[in-house]
Amino acid sequence: MATEKMEFQTEVRDMLNLMINSLYSNKEIFLRELVSNAADALDKRRFLSLSNSSLLPVGTQLRIDISVNKEGKRLIVEDNGIGMNKEDLINCLGTIARSGTKNFIKNLKDADKSSVDLIGQFGVGFYSVFMVAKKVEVLTLKAGETQGYLWSSEGTGDFEISEAPLDKVGTKITLYLKDDEDADDFASEWKIKDIVQKYSGFVSYGIYFHPEATKNDKGELEEKPEERLNDKTALWRQSEKEVTEEQYKDFYNVISHEADEPAAWSHSHAEGSQEFWSLVYIPSKAPFNIWHNDALHGLKLYVKKVFIMDDCKDLLPPWLRFVRGVVDSEDLPLNVSREILQNNKIITNIRKHVIKKVLDALQNMADKDVAKYNAWWRELGMVLKEGFYMNWEHLDELKKLLRFESTKTEGDALVSLDEYVKRMPEGQKEIYYLVGDKNAIKSNPMLEAFKAKGYEVLLMSDGIDEFMMSSLTEFGDKKFHDISRGDVDFEKTEEEKKAEEENKGIFKGLCENLQKVLDENIKEVRVSSRLKDSPCCLVTSEDAMSAQMERMMKAMGQ
Ligand code: ADP
Ligand code: MG
Repeated sequence: MATEKMEFQTEVRDMLNLMINSLYSNKEIFLRELVSNAADALDKRRFLSLSNSSLLPVGTQLRIDISVNKEGKRLIVEDNGIGMNKEDLINCLGTIARSGTKNFIKNLKDADKSSVDLIGQFGVGFYSVFMVAKKVEVLTLKAGETQGYLWSSEGTGDFEISEAPLDKVGTKITLYLKDDEDADDFASEWKIKDIVQKYSGFVSYGIYFHPEATKNDKGELEEKPEERLNDKTALWRQSEKEVTEEQYKDFYNVISHEADEPAAWSHSHAEGSQEFWSLVYIPSKAPFNIWHNDALHGLKLYVKKVFIMDDCKDLLPPWLRFVRGVVDSEDLPLNVSREILQNNKIITNIRKHVIKKVLDALQNMADKDVAKYNAWWRELGMVLKEGFYMNWEHLDELKKLLRFESTKTEGDALVSLDEYVKRMPEGQKEIYYLVGDKNAIKSNPMLEAFKAKGYEVLLMSDGIDEFMMSSLTEFGDKKFHDISRGDVDFEKTEEEKKAEEENKGIFKGLCENLQKVLDENIKEVRVSSRLKDSPCCLVTSEDAMSAQMERMMKAMGQ
């Protein structure tokens, strides 16, 4: 076969353009991506060999090998994982499959140039090598096949594929580093060792560095022994005491592809009727595709240290889809499939454990650092709120985690239900809330009487609040009351009652006239004590759909 030239998919070209011209300073993440791809490939080969032993001959040591050539400015990353055939090369290194990523790139293009910083915030993957390389070669042979291939590209519009005689299964990636200074650095031994050590916590295969041969006193080239860069044990299988805070954070960056620090994490090892390890992280920012349908990137599932799958949906409810991490079970069979996982007792048990750990970690953050928790709540609280209408479990824990703006919060402050109840003035019996548009809600005339009384009203303006409130009826012994509905039963003084009676008499004629004019559109016109400064307001009757809900239904085309 002669060399075939092929064009990158448009989205890839946009992505490459971004990478090549990137001012993103954290360029080293390309190596994190390469090591993570190599580890994935090793996982895949081991997994497939469970059902087809010929794919992994007895005695094969699955491993990753890294070397540099300082003179030639080259960096080489090699693995003996699953490898790629021609089709894989075209599909994996020529297109972008995930629509979330596609959308992200589209948005980037529209946004201004400073958004290159966003590179670190999503799974940049293989293409990030073009931040540091002017040319990349991928030599690869797929397990179970006989024809090897060479893929190469300069990261501009196209790539080339040709056949290559190979007898070793796996993938060897050679980067020809750019001539600029920081790219140059990546051919240096200490730098590469440093980065790999930082990002290799999840790799349970050996990662070896091969130092360049140096000349000895006699001028002879002297080979140096390879060095193992990573621990023998995957990070989550180590005890909490053995792992440093730095290692936890670095590991989070690897599995989440996020550049920032996690808000919190929880690491545990359960023994007893079942044994498993779990390490779960709560991101501090909403993952960029959290609202996309294909966004679910939950926990990675391992069985007996063998990688089984990414995004194991059975381990987390959708309202915790922002959680990242790893679960490793000793009890599940290695040949589990997605079908087996559904309704599997072991999984149900682990899931319970994981949910509890996440909710505990959130509560812990809320107790310890109010500002941090509030900031987190503004990023991801909306997702957590889905927990109220999708399930009946964990409602008590979830209620404690809720935060609201209210008629009494200012600036960044938020109020919890606990605090709300604690500061309720004497005489207030219910928890008052109002749902409405973010910009208008604070000046809603319905709030006047409550402010005058000193009663706090929770202000809700997330699209999801209405749905949430349909399953949130009480907190402790206090009922929730939507103040836009029906009447609110204030304890009135004799004076107030008298004034109200008088007003009813005075405005009787006006009410009747208004009723006649507006008859088609309203149910009833009446004198109310709920207003202080405004002349009138619209309220919904107790059993009707709320105004906010009506607007939402309209927006949804109902
Ligand atoms: P992701 O890892 O998120 O799928 P990448 O851009 O990092 O995205 O990689 C794209 C795809 O290329 C991988 O899913 C995999 O199929 C393939 N690939 C990359 N590196 C290797 C490798 N070393 N061995 C086998 N396949 C690889
Ligand atoms: Mg990858």
